[in-house]
Amino acid sequence: MMKKTKAEDNKINEALKDHLKVKRGVDGLGLFAEQPIKKGEYLIEYWGPLLTDEEVEKKGGQYLFEVKKNVTIDGTHRANTARYINHSCRPNCEVSIKKGRVLVYTKKAIKAGEELGYDYGKDFWNEYIKPKGCRCIKCKEVGTLIAPKQ
Ligand SMILES: [Zn+2]
Repeated sequence: MMKKTKAEDNKINEALKDHLKVKRGVDGLGLFAEQPIKKGEYLIEYWGPLLTDEEVEKKGGQYLFEVKKNVTIDGTHRANTARYINHSCRPNCEVSIKKGRVLVYTKKAIKAGEELGYDYGKDFWNEYIKPKGCRCIKCKEVGTLIAPKQ
C-alpha cells in the first residue's frame, strides 16, 4: 500500500481549518487567513473530478487544473474551497503537484487578515488575466503609483 502523509489524507489542513475563510477580496471572492500561518504549511487541496483532454475541450472554464498529460482536475464545485484562492503576481502560497494531486502550501509567513494567492502560471495569465488586466494586490499597488491623481 502507498504510504500517505497526514496532510494528503485531508483535503483541508484540519489544524488550520478555522484559520481560513472565504470572503470578498481584491477580485471577487478570495480565501483569507484569519490567523497568522507559518511558512511552508500545507493548507488545502485543489480537488474535483478528473477530466480527459477531450472532456476539457467540451467543458472549458477557469477552474480547470491540468496535473499531467490528459488529466485535468475540474475544480468548479464550490466545495473545492481552494478554488477561491486568487492569482497573485507576488504570491504568498504555492502549489505542489504530487501524484496527480494539487496541494497548496504557504510560501511565506502569512499575517492575520491577509488574502492568499498563488501564481496561476503563464497560460492562465495570457488567457484569462491579461485581457481584463491583473487585479492582484501587487498589480493594484503598481496601478496606484502610476495612475494620475484625480
Ligand atoms: Zn498581478
